[in-house]
Amino acid sequence: MATTRITENFTLEELCHSDTAAARGLKNIPDEDQVDNLKRLAINLLQPVRDRYGKAMHINSGFRSPEVNKAVNGSPTSDHMHGKAADVRTDNPRELFDLVRKSGLSFDQLILYPSFVHMSFRYNANRNQVLYAKGVHP
Ligand SMILES: [Zn+2]
Repeated sequence: MATTRITENFTLEELCHSDTAAARGLKNIPDEDQVDNLKRLAINLLQPVRDRYGKAMHINSGFRSPEVNKAVNGSPTSDHMHGKAADVRTDNPRELFDLVRKSGLSFDQLILYPSFVHMSFRYNANRNQVLYAKGVHP
């Protein structure tokens, strides 16, 4: 399968991969607008974060079709369904979270989970919200 590189470290394919979708045979293909959003997310947030972080960032989940979002118990209004969010796993999620929080980069929501960081980018409508998932202390 062809690989579409968006930025130095991120491809369209990894932003559309879902273990759950693969395991259950669910379709997870973004339309043109959703691809545009994924590109904005990678160019304006993921890659600048990666450049500052300097270490591996694994995308647990980027784009999710409505079926996939339901399968992973995502929020019914999830930005993942628009290609505007990614869940990023690293060796140290809190370290990554702190870096993004203090980076001065524009984002919509930054959420620390026990094993990953959710970060979203809403073109022209970023709120720079910093949040903690249930059970994660600030
Ligand atoms: Zn997320």
